[in-house]
Amino acid sequence: MISPKTLTTTAGNPIANNQDSLTAGPRGPLLLADYQLLEKLAHQNRERIPERTVHAKGSGAYGVLSITHDISAYTKADVLQPGKKTECLVRFSTVAGEAGAADAERDVRGFALKFYTEEGNWDLVGNNTPVFFVRDPYKFPDFIHTQKRHPKTHLRNATAMWDFWSFMPESLHQVTILFSDRGIPLTLRHMNGYGSHTYSLINKEGVRFWVKFHFKTLQGIKCMTNEESSELIGHDRESNQRDLFNAIESKDFPRWKFQIQIMTQEQSASAPFNPFDLTKVWPHGDYPMIDVGILELHRNPENYFAEIEQAAFSPSNVVPGISFSPDKMLQARIFSYADAHRHRLGTHYEMLPVNRPKCPAQTYHRDGAMRFDEPKIGDAYYEPNSFGGPREDPTYSEPPEPLGEVTVDRYHEDRSMSHPCCAYGNEAIKNTEQLFEQKTSAGEIDDFTQAGALFRLMKEEEKKRLFSNIAQSMRGVPQTIQERQLSLFRRVDPAYGDGVEAALKLN
Ligand code: NDP
Repeated sequence: MISPKTLTTTAGNPIANNQDSLTAGPRGPLLLADYQLLEKLAHQNRERIPERTVHAKGSGAYGVLSITHDISAYTKADVLQPGKKTECLVRFSTVAGEAGAADAERDVRGFALKFYTEEGNWDLVGNNTPVFFVRDPYKFPDFIHTQKRHPKTHLRNATAMWDFWSFMPESLHQVTILFSDRGIPLTLRHMNGYGSHTYSLINKEGVRFWVKFHFKTLQGIKCMTNEESSELIGHDRESNQRDLFNAIESKDFPRWKFQIQIMTQEQSASAPFNPFDLTKVWPHGDYPMIDVGILELHRNPENYFAEIEQAAFSPSNVVPGISFSPDKMLQARIFSYADAHRHRLGTHYEMLPVNRPKCPAQTYHRDGAMRFDEPKIGDAYYEPNSFGGPREDPTYSEPPEPLGEVTVDRYHEDRSMSHPCCAYGNEAIKNTEQLFEQKTSAGEIDDFTQAGALFRLMKEEEKKRLFSNIAQSMRGVPQTIQERQLSLFRRVDPAYGDGVEAALKLN
């Protein structure tokens, strides 16, 4: 029997010498028969898996979700019943930077949660902002190209970002949050998390409610200025990872208050905005916060690669009592996230220990890369079968979603106007005022009011920092693009456009 202290090959063969390669004399050459050396080099070549296209740099920890309030009127989900405690994994991330990027950059932060419930995994894959840059997933790959490196220079490219945003008025709300104080959280513990999309909750009577999920930091919101983050990055590129890891090691467990907003089907029909539009929030005054519970993180992973790099979150993972909504961005992510993990980790990525549900997963998916369990299925390897294999259970049926009369089309929200993108390349589009005249008066779609509400919430000092952050980011961007964007800011609030213009001149 080999001692547990003896080094072996991956096949368990003991290794007698792990210092010197096998050679035909002290000066070489090497022999092909040195399998130990070949295996070692081959493994080194394979130690990286494809980096996530977005959200590549992340930090994670385990915790528990405790339900302290009764929301059973809205949902039958076991994980959300009063008194329930559910183990979970959280992964925070920046969006644009690569796996080695500095943590303290101005960027949206991912806030991805996996709850290991008794009814399968529930993944809530949100951000630290309640809204997003685009409302239609058709634009998502283009948007991400603008955040990544220029194909020729291999540099990050402010012109691409502002060019795209200046054609995309629906980005104004998220752009305003990104360049506000909250655009650089001090640590991952000092920011909120939002499910961002509208989801649905279904109660025992089969009634569906629309819902927004919020996680409010109990550490308080704390942020950094551009100057503070530059200084920090100069001596610590891993500030978020270090802070989260050390806080948990020293038992200073971070906590968030878990709240929801609810909208009935009737309210959604008469809401003055599209409640399934990811560029919009539901005003707190109209849809008040409802307390649900507490999220606490209390355990660091033992192995970063196995448990955080290989963690795979997907909004497709929902449990009975929690479901989807008509949000187009959500529907695209339901496909796209699981697909990304099949590419990044392999077909059976849900079987990796960090992703595996704590309850049995009973599927008829069969072979493929990394099928490493031994499913005891006998002759029940297809469905339906006569051999007692798992079967569907109609008690889990969801109530139908009333869609009314449906006309399939490629909808832009306001069909009465041409989208600024449709006219791009046209010199006249330096200034977007005229285009939006029609749009605002039509009243069908409004990309400006909520961004303006946020702008007007800010104190004078916050506004000044917003202007300066935007002006710094726009440095070197061609003037036509700057002008187009300024006319959008003016639509949000004249003081917003004027403030950014003045800061640009100061630049
Ligand atoms: P309220 O006055 O009821 O809501 C104000 C909310 O704004 C706060 O609760 C806080 O959200 C959030 N907020 C404050 N400062 C900032 C900032 N610098 N960056 C981002 N968010 C901030 O008004 P409304 O509900 O009508 O919202 C007004 C604006 O506030 C929205 O357009 C949106 O930009 C922003 N907001 C609204 C949220 C919502 O769910 N209604 C959530 C987050 C932002 P929080 O409590 O989540 O920290």
